[in-house]
Amino acid sequence: MRCKFCGRDADIYIPYPRMHLCKEHFIVYFERKIERTINRYKMFSKEDKILIAIGGGKDSAVASYILKRFGYTIEGLFLDLGIGGFSEKSRRYAEKQCKDVDIPIHRVEIRKLFNRGINEVKSSRPTCAICGATKRYIFNKFAYDNDFNVLVTGHNLDDESSFVLSNLINWNIEYLGRQGPILPGTGKFIRKVKPLYEVTEVEIKEYADVIGIEYISERCPLSKGEKIPRYKHVLNELEKMSSGVKINFIKGFLRNRHLFKFDLGKSSILKECKVCGMPSQGEVCVFCRIWGLDKPVELKVS
Ligand SMILES: [Zn+2]
Ligand SMILES: [Zn+2]
Repeated sequence: MRCKFCGRDADIYIPYPRMHLCKEHFIVYFERKIERTINRYKMFSKEDKILIAIGGGKDSAVASYILKRFGYTIEGLFLDLGIGGFSEKSRRYAEKQCKDVDIPIHRVEIRKLFNRGINEVKSSRPTCAICGATKRYIFNKFAYDNDFNVLVTGHNLDDESSFVLSNLINWNIEYLGRQGPILPGTGKFIRKVKPLYEVTEVEIKEYADVIGIEYISERCPLSKGEKIPRYKHVLNELEKMSSGVKINFIKGFLRNRHLFKFDLGKSSILKECKVCGMPSQGEVCVFCRIWGLDKPVELKVS
């Protein structure tokens, strides 16, 4: 098979839109796609100070590599959840990835802050929910405390389409209204964006391999009971039957998202947490309750 653009021998096949590409033109194709996503949703500009959540996996590594290559001002934050060997290994990859693309990396260690790991919290909530709430809070507060105005995560098309499917099946209307490539900032909430929103896991893996980006491929050992992989599996099966299902599902969702109205300003999030001063639904925010705090966690770096 020959490359669609240059006619040389092709190395990579993209099922949707059906294309054979050489390595060089795959890189061009992939980077253009991300550039278009950034511009289409007006995610950020060269004036913005961007924080990226680096976890050691392929998604955030590829996102930071490309954003740096495009010339954006970007720094990484690694959150160490204190899950023994897995966190250790993730941290080593994250540090190497940041070093290789020459961006500063910041580290926040849960165990140092609270004397326990994410799986040692006594709570009725499932560990993945505690972890999700902790990540959201720390990344947002770190960005806020250190004057970043955009927070980037490595969520890709497979993640996003499976979240939407899962939230539709469970009719989580509020989540559906908020889901998307960009969540605008308001008050102490920093703008959150997903530049890999329209590329698949397979494409990201291919890109990482072509460029030579190393990453951790194990999944978190605590995520065993998580349901998202099922939805990913179902979507992959559908994709095999007719390619383009995921991207068309997600684009259709964005066209119809107004059906799930959600207004951050008018939602129930109106108060400030009594402990930390960050936005909260109750008197004390979920994060301060989970960790039993009586004073705010200090994340400002000098
Ligand atoms: Zn080519
Ligand atoms: Zn709080």
